[in-house]
Amino acid sequence: MIKSPQESQPFHYVQINEEICNGCVLCMKACPTKAIRIKNGKVARLEGVCINCGECIRICPRGAVTAIMDEAGDRYEARYTSVSASTALYAQFDEEIMPNDILLGLKRMGFSHVHDQTYTNEMFNVAIELYIKEHRKKRDAPFPLISPVCPVVVKLIAHRFPSLLKNIPPLMTPREIVARESKRRLAAQHDLHEKEIKVLHITPCPSKMICIKEPVFQEHSYLDEATAICSIFETLRKNIQEVDEDIVLHHSGGIGLGWGMSGGEIAGLDMKCLAVPGLQETIRYLEKIEMGLLSHIDYIEFRTCTEGCLGGPYTVTDKYQAKHNLQRLIHMFGAELRVKYDYVSKLYASGWFFADRQNMSPDSSLRQSSRSEISAAIERHNLVEQILKFLPKKECGICGSPDCSTFAEDVVNGDADLEDCLYYDQVNKKSGFSSIRLKDKTE
Ligand code: SF4
Ligand code: SF4
Repeated sequence: MIKSPQESQPFHYVQINEEICNGCVLCMKACPTKAIRIKNGKVARLEGVCINCGECIRICPRGAVTAIMDEAGDRYEARYTSVSASTALYAQFDEEIMPNDILLGLKRMGFSHVHDQTYTNEMFNVAIELYIKEHRKKRDAPFPLISPVCPVVVKLIAHRFPSLLKNIPPLMTPREIVARESKRRLAAQHDLHEKEIKVLHITPCPSKMICIKEPVFQEHSYLDEATAICSIFETLRKNIQEVDEDIVLHHSGGIGLGWGMSGGEIAGLDMKCLAVPGLQETIRYLEKIEMGLLSHIDYIEFRTCTEGCLGGPYTVTDKYQAKHNLQRLIHMFGAELRVKYDYVSKLYASGWFFADRQNMSPDSSLRQSSRSEISAAIERHNLVEQILKFLPKKECGICGSPDCSTFAEDVVNGDADLEDCLYYDQVNKKSGFSSIRLKDKTE
């Protein structure tokens, strides 16, 4: 039976098939937010805060973890449906298919308006450069700045590194800017309300789908829905073969096209930058930033997928083949920005790039607490510490929690029993804790 995501986390995209899962604990150990538990010693369940990183999907040797996908369905038929695509889409096709062919193919599929995100990527490069220059002049400005583009990174920071939220510039991502501008323009052209125009995003990654419903940096997303590259790919390929129009929809150079791969975003910045791909490396470098070790760097492009968005779970082409395709396109279109610096500078000065909400708040679990909540949390913390003292710290995961400290928290929350610990007898002898759930005891 396939388990639905928990109701308290309505936009999880992960589902675990209990009939296939054998409880090997690999996903539980890999999850960066400790969101997975093994129940009854054999089945994985999603129980905590999921940031939709996809690590559990990648690591499961049995294919028991899958992503819930959103199908584009009949939205092709909508009268004013606009579409924009991640640049990872351009890397999925063979050599002879150019970005403009892909955009024309989308148009042929029935989308009334097709928008090229690559040009906005290049505008964003200029905006970030201006933001860095402006903030380098300020005393106490946080550095390095962290790219707001990968939603998993933003969620990871909000959940695990909230002190680094201030390092994320409050600029809208190119995919959001494209959606906002297409709504504004089409509404003006057709004398419609912006709400009547629907914008669909084609994405390599489920977290971009989810951040449409749960935006972290804005009051609301300008995108209405997203669909996976893999669910649209075959239809698009057939339509590309039948394209009979000859209009220019693609406008960027190679820099805007390269954003799909790791290092693509910072290729357009003439500053001290790093590109860090992969979840574990991202966590390692975020720890370094917290320790103040990288303040000489201006900007870091983090992507939790290896090779960047080309490694997203919704792509269809091998990520190394896709990288080769993209490098070829960059070479062909030239490694220079095609945008006009002065024009973008004026837009930047007018606030055009900035998100509606300038400040991000930490994960909702870190919201301001009342006095009684604080004393309850202190009491719980003391209990966790007490239990932890007697646990063996072998981090074996046999109890069904990812490590001993999370197990202690689960016991205090009433979600696990001390008896679940393989070393329970020793723990009980040393500590005198009874096997009853500590939550019940304190209530
Ligand atoms: S990785 Fe997780 S979901 Fe996959 S078999 Fe192991 S415990 Fe089950
Ligand atoms: S998607 Fe990532 S955060 Fe969510 S359960 Fe899987 S490993 Fe954990």
